[in-house]
Parts: sequence; C-alpha cells; structure tokens
Amino acid sequence: MKIVMLSRSPNLYSHQRLKEAAEERGHELDIINTLRCYMNIASRRPEIYYNGEKLPRYDAVIPRIGASITFYGMAVLRQFEMMGVYPLNESVAIGRSRDKLRSMQLLARDGIGLPVTTFAHDPKQTEEVLKLAGGAPLVIKLLEGTQGIGVVLADTERSAKSVVEAFRGAGVNILVQEFIKEAGGTDIRALVVGGRVIAAMQRTGAEGEFRSNLHRGGSAKTIKISPEERSTAIRAAKTMGLNVCGVDMLRANHGPVVMEVNSSPGLEGVEKATGIDIAGKIIDHIAKHAKTGATKTKGK
Ligand code: ADP
Ligand code: GLU
Repeated sequence: MKIVMLSRSPNLYSHQRLKEAAEERGHELDIINTLRCYMNIASRRPEIYYNGEKLPRYDAVIPRIGASITFYGMAVLRQFEMMGVYPLNESVAIGRSRDKLRSMQLLARDGIGLPVTTFAHDPKQTEEVLKLAGGAPLVIKLLEGTQGIGVVLADTERSAKSVVEAFRGAGVNILVQEFIKEAGGTDIRALVVGGRVIAAMQRTGAEGEFRSNLHRGGSAKTIKISPEERSTAIRAAKTMGLNVCGVDMLRANHGPVVMEVNSSPGLEGVEKATGIDIAGKIIDHIAKHAKTGATKTKGK
C-alpha cells in the first residue's frame, strides 16, 4: 500500500513509529506537511498538489493534524476523502472531537458517563452556572486548551467566580465541571483502534497536582481496566466516529466518566508504559480497511 501522513513534524516519536511500522509491513509511507498542500477544488476530479507537483494516488491517509491548524488540515483531509483515499480518521469525526462542547453533547446523547458540565456565554449567568455544576470545588477549563494548560481547580465559590471572570476578561470560552475528587489526580487513557481497546494506561499527576497530563510532569503505567471502562471507551469512540482515538476517563464513584476523546493520540507514553506495538496495530487496521474508493463520507 501507499500511505500518506499529514503532519508538520515528521520527526515526532509517534510519526516515526507509524512510518517504521508501515515499512516493516512492506508498505510505503510518505510524510507531507499539511500546510504545504494546495488543492484544486473546482474540477470534478479533485486533486492535491505539493511542492509544485500533483500528489500520486495513495491508498490511505493518516491525519496527524495539530489543533492549531484544524481548519486547513480538515480541508486537506476532505480533499483526500473526495479522491476516495481511506482516512484513518474521517474529517467529520476529527471536527467533532476538536470541539469539546459538541463532543460532550454527542456523548451525553448516547448516555455515556460524563462529569457534570455547564457552560454559558453571558457573564451575568456566572453564579447560576457554578451552582448548576454543583458548587465548589469546581474545575474550570479553557475550551481550546490542551496538555492540561488552562485547566484550573477552584476550591471555593469565590475563587471559582474570580477564575471565571478572569477567563471571560481574556475573551476565551470556558466550561465548568464538577471536580471528581475521588479520581485522586489519576486518569485513564484507553487507546481504541477499530472498535477495540488495544492498550490502557493510568496517568498520575506529579505530587500535589490534580492534573495527570504527562506534559505536566505526570507519570504513566499500564493498567487493567474494568469491563465497564472498556465498554465506555469503545462506545465513546463509536459516538465520535473515530477509528483511532485516545479516550480519557476518570474513575468516579458512580463509574467511569469521559473527559475527552483525542483523535491524534500520542504513542510514546502509551507504547513505553504498556510495551504494546500500537503503531503496528494502527497500520494493520489500515491494511484491513483501506479499499480505494471505500470511504463512507467522501468529505460530506
Ligand atoms: P487537556 O485536554 O488540556 O488535557 P483535560 O480536560 O484532559 O485537559 O484535563 C487535564 C487533567 O486534569 C486531566 O487529565 C485530569 O487529571 C484532570 N481533570 C480534568 N477534569 C477533571 C475533573 N472534572 N475532575 C478531576 N480531575 C480533572
Ligand atoms: N448528527 C451528526 C452526528 O450525530 C452530526 C452531529 C455532530 O457531529 O455534531 O454524528
């Protein structure tokens, strides 16, 4: 097979591992810079150009589109879909996952456990929104945050109010969530590939840190998840329409709650913690499903 990966950082661990895994299995994998692709949309035969040349025919495309270039990246990916190239994750599903509110609404509709979450646009509703989320302690999050940046724990009503006001003053969108204290600064990341959990790790925050992100100094180890956690992760992936994703969950007293579904999960932490060849399983999934012209959405 001829596979193309859309990425701006070809040297990242995850991207190198996917390339290695593809080549070990006798496939070709080209990594191209998403932002350098340009397209011909007008004709009935969609094309993509790169460095002055028309791209060759690929069987599959692996989108590794950073959050900051979601808009253009999805346009490029849609173009591949319209050409009938199998996308590891479809553009529509990535679009869903990049919007936290939309994701939570869709997960809630399918009855998947979530932390109580509230949001509002109008600052006049701040007190009401804090009350609806159950009152302090509360977690306040930037809607566009990643790697735990912009996630704040407010212990009291007063601090919650001032954090909300500070974020509002900065003109950013936020959501307010019940604080799952019993999770104890630990979360679970389940890696779902093709409707199965292929690896799971537990991430624990640094001493005194409620955020368990590895980027915030957290550490990871392999764990065995419960059947309920497994089915929650699989259902979340299905709701989002993602073939490959990392589902982040907290262990709440009343069962697993989903915090986020990540459509471009990093492989380094989870491969090192679990020893599982995740890149290989992703490439196997592509080899099994990539049939030219068999994409469902064609970017619709
Ligand atoms: P990001 O997308 O920036 O990683 P998350 O929403 O995943 O932000 O939050 C970062 C970390 O903060 C999580 O991994 C988790 O450990 C902790 N956390 C987030 N929300 C809650 C919550 N409602 N209750 C308890 N801990 C939380
Ligand atoms: N109705 C479509 C769905 O449930 C689109 C909704 C969305 O993705 O926001 O998948």
